[in-house]
Amino acid sequence: MGEGKEQKVIIQHYIPQCILKNFSNDKGQVYEGLVMEKKTYLTNVSNSMAERFTYEHSLIEANILEKYFSRIENYIGPAFSRIISALEKYEENSNDFKKINRLINSYMREYLIFYYRSGALLHEFSHEQKSPEDRVLLLIRKLISSDYIKRLSETVVNHYSFCILKSNEGNFVLSDQFVSTAALKIKNRFTNVSNRQIGLKQVILFIPLSKNYYVVYFHGKSPIYICEDKINELNTEQLNEVNKVIINNSYKKSVGCNKEPLELGLSEFEFRSPVTYLAGYKSGATTGSVVKKEIFFYRKDEEVMEFFESTDWLKFKSLERNDICRCGSGKKFKKCHMDIYLECKRMMDHIENNGDSRIYNVSERSTTELPINEWFGHVTPKE
Ligand SMILES: [Zn+2]
Repeated sequence: MGEGKEQKVIIQHYIPQCILKNFSNDKGQVYEGLVMEKKTYLTNVSNSMAERFTYEHSLIEANILEKYFSRIENYIGPAFSRIISALEKYEENSNDFKKINRLINSYMREYLIFYYRSGALLHEFSHEQKSPEDRVLLLIRKLISSDYIKRLSETVVNHYSFCILKSNEGNFVLSDQFVSTAALKIKNRFTNVSNRQIGLKQVILFIPLSKNYYVVYFHGKSPIYICEDKINELNTEQLNEVNKVIINNSYKKSVGCNKEPLELGLSEFEFRSPVTYLAGYKSGATTGSVVKKEIFFYRKDEEVMEFFESTDWLKFKSLERNDICRCGSGKKFKKCHMDIYLECKRMMDHIENNGDSRIYNVSERSTTELPINEWFGHVTPKE
């Protein structure tokens, strides 16, 4: 550990200050919101999204990870400023949008590193409660696998659609997961990998630039106000919908420049993460796994998932189309709970039918490599 001449960095940020300041007011302050307590308060950027010795481990030389992240932050900070001014120029006089797209694409690896940093430090991918030191090891393992991050970046850049969202009032919020994700569709799968993992199909990613701009990458059916290859200016209702998804991605905190949109998003935060599942297969095998909290962009998909998890759908099992629905509505099954029941049954069939060929193991690797496999052999890159 050397002579100890070097000063240890005590307060370490898991969201870089160069990004936090883009969400601050002109005094360098942000509103920080605690998602569980649903409490907001004003704080300085230098105190926000930080903890004492976030990335230190007794077996690792002091400040190693701090330096690694500082190096990245030192060039992502100016890059973010360049991107924002390119967007402002585009709005004034039609800067080439494809050029902006390429500029933003070129930092995909860095966005993903920030995403994994938050995930590992704030308790993602861990089967049971990990100590802070164990989380540092998880983080290092993730970052060492740079080939994975490279391939994942290529998947997003080559296969997802791209656009920008804009809030004229500077009302976007930022979650401590850094990149926020949501599934655009239920995919009849719930073991091993979340529906909203980066790199999967039918997923939307929100990458923060500032309180005025978010970068969006998506695959699948996006809402009408998120159109590819342009800047989409959001009205208040649309903005609240996006902020709700972003805040639901938070582990502990979100921040925003303005209090009202932050508080509105916090009021709708649901704690469902991380979820442990035990899956039983026809072969007799069982598997347990941790699934990232499910977040669906559309309310109707959320309803199916809640219904599935409640196991209420099982009581509709023996009903025929024209039977009276068992929920007590008095309506025919086909006009009431049939669609949602069939969706749940498809999920269960999927689990049962894939049991013999796909026994999942719970490991960091399995949660990250499946997203790329989903594309394998099915898609040719966009030009
Ligand atoms: Zn019903």
